[in-house]
Amino acid sequence: IRASSTPVFTSQSEWLGSVVVYHDITASELADRMKTEFVATASHELRTPLTSISGYIDLLMLNTLGPLTEQQRQFLSVVKNNIERLNAILNDLLDVSRIESGKVRLQRKPINLDELIQSTVMAIHQQWSGKQISLALDVPDDLPPMIADPERMRQIITNLISNAYKYTRDGGRIDVVVSNGSDSVTLAVKDSGVGIAADDQQHIFTRFFRSENPLKEQAGGTGLGLNITKSLVELHGGKIWFDSEEGRGTTFTVQLPVGGDSDWTPASWLEGV
Ligand code: ADP
Repeated sequence: IRASSTPVFTSQSEWLGSVVVYHDITASELADRMKTEFVATASHELRTPLTSISGYIDLLMLNTLGPLTEQQRQFLSVVKNNIERLNAILNDLLDVSRIESGKVRLQRKPINLDELIQSTVMAIHQQWSGKQISLALDVPDDLPPMIADPERMRQIITNLISNAYKYTRDGGRIDVVVSNGSDSVTLAVKDSGVGIAADDQQHIFTRFFRSENPLKEQAGGTGLGLNITKSLVELHGGKIWFDSEEGRGTTFTVQLPVGGDSDWTPASWLEGV
């Protein structure tokens, strides 16, 4: 049982009494909360030793213990890649539990969406290797300044474009198209990839859900990315949807209000600075 109490005063400011509200937290709600806390604590604790391991690998790669052979360097770089994957999984788990417990606070500020998209796309592009996928960007010149959390916006864009890359075969293409509405902007990420089977489409934003497709194993992933992306879009007051045909490709579309949601004012932003 959780209790909260609010004092009640007369118009002459005399204390009349208190209203006490008792909340019956059911067992399942409690179990849910404990699970969320457990996931948050476990992910957080696992990150600390991982940071240390990563630091020592970096030291070894700098030849601190003498020069490395080519094979030693290769093995260390496999370890390093796997540490990065683990880190990404832990970050996703932390994000999910923070979102679930309402702890994610957006750091909203005026942003230049054009610049943010260009730099995000460039950073993603640099990480691609192995597959040849062409990527075209179409951003209008007259995008209005927007109120949003720049890091979370990067995360949304990165997740969608990374998925488009993961689930598209060698030789495919990705188009990122931004368009202006009267008080919103729309960002579409269109790929010529494997698509999503009709029966799976209703589950695509569900946590840990990964649809069967020919690139699933090779792509790797946790099934958390889209769930996080959807929550982040909704925290910004926006909407996300997709259109997909198996074997032909998928388009994810995000629509965001340019003004952020209604509680943003320049004064509230300055308070947070
Ligand atoms: P994952 O870590 O598996 O990529 P996500 O939550 O990002 O997790 O996506 C959930 C599932 O949705 C993926 O496993 C994949 O089956 C499907 N999916 C997401 N984006 C695409 C896309 N662009 N094309 C085809 N399937 C996609």
